[in-house]
Amino acid sequence: MKLHIDGWQTNLRFSAAHFIPEHDKCSRLHGHDYGIKLSLEGEVKEGILADFGVIKRNMRELIAPLDHKLLLPSRMKYSKYEIKDDYVHISYGEVRMTIPEQFVAFVDTQTTSSEELSVYLGTKLMNALKDEKNVKTLWLSVQEGPGQGAEWSGHFDH
Ligand SMILES: [Zn+2]
Repeated sequence: MKLHIDGWQTNLRFSAAHFIPEHDKCSRLHGHDYGIKLSLEGEVKEGILADFGVIKRNMRELIAPLDHKLLLPSRMKYSKYEIKDDYVHISYGEVRMTIPEQFVAFVDTQTTSSEELSVYLGTKLMNALKDEKNVKTLWLSVQEGPGQGAEWSGHFDH
């Protein structure tokens, strides 16, 4: 059995700014409305695979810190940053940016592509749902606007 949650319709969405230094157009600071799509597969026991409310609550806790922030990869590969006096100084190529630290959300990735964000959020959600013993597989898609996104999947050990 599979459960599906479309975050565009169930408020699993957030807005954020980012830039991808290694891409021509995407190297410029810009923003997206991000939506999360989830699927879970597993065994139905006593009529239930998993509680939609629990899944959505956990997902919302993961995306709330990203909302209305600049997403900055903490393991930047193509750019550098330095935090000084509550400001984050970012540089790549000819670009220099200084952003108040409170406007920044650090994510544990090398870049902030949908691909890497789906791995980051998928891994965190899987960890948060480790007590959902009926669930065997999780698919998580981070969509940059409706209709396009990267999907990660992971299998639970239990
Ligand atoms: Zn983008």
